[in-house]
Parts: sequence; C-alpha cells; structure tokens
Amino acid sequence: MTDPVPSAAIDLILAKRDGRALTGAEIDWLIAAYTEGAVADEQMSALLMAIYFRGMAPAELRAWTSAMVNSGERLDLGSVVPPTVDKHSTGGVGDKVSLILAPLVASCGAAVPQLSGRGLGHTGGTLDKLESIPGWRAALSADEMVAVLNSAGCVICAAGAGLAPADRRLYALRDVTGTVESIPLIASSIMSKKIAEGTAALVLDVKVGSGAFMRELPAAQELARTMVGLGGEAGVRTSALLTGMDTPLGRAVGNAVEVEEAVATLRGEGPPDLVEVTLALAREMLTLAGIEADPAAALADGSALDRYRLMIAAQGGDPDAPLPQARHREVLTADQDGWLRRLDARAVGVAAWRLGAGRARKEDDVNHAAGIVCLAKPGDEVAAGQPILELRTDDETRFGPAFAALDGATAVGAEPAAAEPLVIERITSD
Ligand code: URA
Repeated sequence: MTDPVPSAAIDLILAKRDGRALTGAEIDWLIAAYTEGAVADEQMSALLMAIYFRGMAPAELRAWTSAMVNSGERLDLGSVVPPTVDKHSTGGVGDKVSLILAPLVASCGAAVPQLSGRGLGHTGGTLDKLESIPGWRAALSADEMVAVLNSAGCVICAAGAGLAPADRRLYALRDVTGTVESIPLIASSIMSKKIAEGTAALVLDVKVGSGAFMRELPAAQELARTMVGLGGEAGVRTSALLTGMDTPLGRAVGNAVEVEEAVATLRGEGPPDLVEVTLALAREMLTLAGIEADPAAALADGSALDRYRLMIAAQGGDPDAPLPQARHREVLTADQDGWLRRLDARAVGVAAWRLGAGRARKEDDVNHAAGIVCLAKPGDEVAAGQPILELRTDDETRFGPAFAALDGATAVGAEPAAAEPLVIERITSD
C-alpha cells in the first residue's frame, strides 16, 4: 500500500514536532509544494526547526535528499569520456584547494566537474575568488560546462538555477532561521547538489575546527558518515577526508590573494599545509576514479598549471592579467618574542570578511582586493613587533572592525605548540 498523500503542511509540522518520522510520500509532497510556493516560508521554518531538534531517521533523510534532487534537473555527463570525480569542501578559511585540485586531478587523467558556490559569512566562496580574474565567467550553460570539461578536463562554475532548486530556497531560509547547523540538513543540502551534478565519484573535505561549520571531531565524523552514506545510496562513489581548520589554510585569505597563492602552488611554490591537503584530496579522488598517477609529479612538472590556464581561458578569463591590489595595508604585530602558538581561523575569516572580502547578505558584492596575508603561521618563531598578519582593503574605515575581530586571535608562547595532523581521518562506506 502506498502512503496517503498529505493535504496540509501543518500535519507534517505537528508530526515532526512530536517526534514521528515523515514518510517518503509526505516528504515528496512537502518538497514539491515548497518549491512551487504552495507551502509558506513560515511553515517550512517551523518544520526546519523541528528537524533541527528532532533530527531525521536514515530513511527520512534519504527521501528528503532525493526529493531535493528531483526538485530540479540532473546534469548528464554521459558525453564526458574520462571518469568524472568532484570534490566538495564544507567550507573553511583560506580554502583555495579547489582552484589547484581541479586542474591537478584533470592533469592526471580524470574529468573534474565542479559546481561551486559563493561565500556567505566568514568562509570564502570559490566563485568569488575566481571572479578576481579579469574576464572569468562563473555562469555557464550546461552545454558550455560540458564543453569546458571536455576541452580542459576540469570546470569550476556556478550551479544553475535549475539544479536542486528546493535547496536554494531552503538554504536561504535556514540562513535566517537559525537552522543551518543541523547534520541532516547540511548533508542533504550538499549531497542533493552533488548528486544532481551527475559526477560518478565525489570526495568530501569535511573541515574540523574553529573556522569550520563543525568545530568538534565527533560532529564532523557524523556529518562525513552521513554524506558518504547518502552518496553511496545514490550511486555516487563517495569518500571523505576530515581535515583541520583551526588555523587558515595556506597564508592567503580573501579573493585575489588566494588566487595568487593557488597559482604559486601550481608553480610548485605552495605553502606546505596547502600542498599536503591538496595532494591528500587529489590521491583520494584518483583512487575513486580508478586512475594510477602521482599528483605530486603533476604539480612539479607544470602540467597542473597548464590545465589551470586552459580552464581559466576557456571560461573567458585572462590567466596572465594582473589581479586587483588593495589600496591600503596595515599589519598586526607580535606582542612578545616567542613562538606563534595560535592563529585562529574563524577570527581571521571574520576579519577578512569585514575588510570586504566576504558579504553580509547574499546580494552584496565582494571586494576582490580585500583580504589578509598570514606572514607567520603557528609553529613559526616571531619577535616582538614582527608583523604576523597583513590586512588589505580598499576602504580604510574597515580596518577598525577587522582589528576588533582579531582581538585574542593570536597567542605567542615560550615554546612551539605541538603540530596537529592536518589530515585527521578518512571515511569510506567500506
Ligand atoms: N553548504 C551547503 O551547500 N549546504 C549547507 O547546508 C551547508 C554548507
């Protein structure tokens, strides 16, 4: 017997509020009705809050995710010959890995279709970073996306409005109703877009630490396991690496500054932490794609950089054009001699955002030149008065709020802190 189709959202709100799992038919009806505008935002807000507190049973979460996939179109990557494999990061500070990883993995023989987002809050967005490059276009049609993928082996572009439209509406609502930090809601949001994107395999970079959505390891593990499970059930080979996000990744935080650092890394001159995380993710992606290749060699011999240049040019960008430079710079200095023990990722992310690198509302523009360069990283020896951070902006009035965000963000001590592993754990469905 099939489940009866519900007639009113209120019944589902009451059921979820009181702890009953929703049926597949109820979820299909709800997501379709919400996407069409037949369920009001205030009702969906109440339901999201009930989910936030009650969680979701595995069958409910599967149904919720597939209803979100079915709310829009699915891309067909069937005409792409090499195995497709994508990476998704749950978001961090200084996380420019996609810019390096997509061309790197493409240069090793896989096809990397990356539908990316824009930053909101203290974490940056890959598209905002790439838009620092004069001429580069994020908005591609599905045909254009496949054409770039076929010519360059990789593409990074905006998800079109037709892809998981239910998530687009739900995410905007969660953002203003205090319901973002829910493991089932995050997992279904991310995985619905990746399943609809049509990639055959997916590696998730689940960030853990002060600058991440998931600050504690157990929550990050649960999120990773949940997403790996959803991917596998939808026929996408999925695995996850948990990686540290207590301090910014690399030295650059912002938009143009992160592009510069990504290009330096593709030239073989990247900071060690960024190179380590990028290579670990590249190896994982190649394993899922069934390709035996050494990504470290592709970084060293320039083939990854060649792919990057091809990809940027195929999307209208000039990889040789000068990037925007900020008009004003100020520094934060060490208050004593010693070892930099802490440089808090979240504080640096918030400060970069206040300098103009991020947006407060999704309609805002970002300032591509604004950002922060970490002149010292935890583990470095510093002298009193030595610059630790360089803050950059086009608008001098932003320095005050940015320095305020950095209050207490650094700690210098007599001994170096023990180095924490960057790649913490690998989670697969096996
Ligand atoms: N990124 C997403 O796409 N969705 C979430 O819910 C959180 C991060």
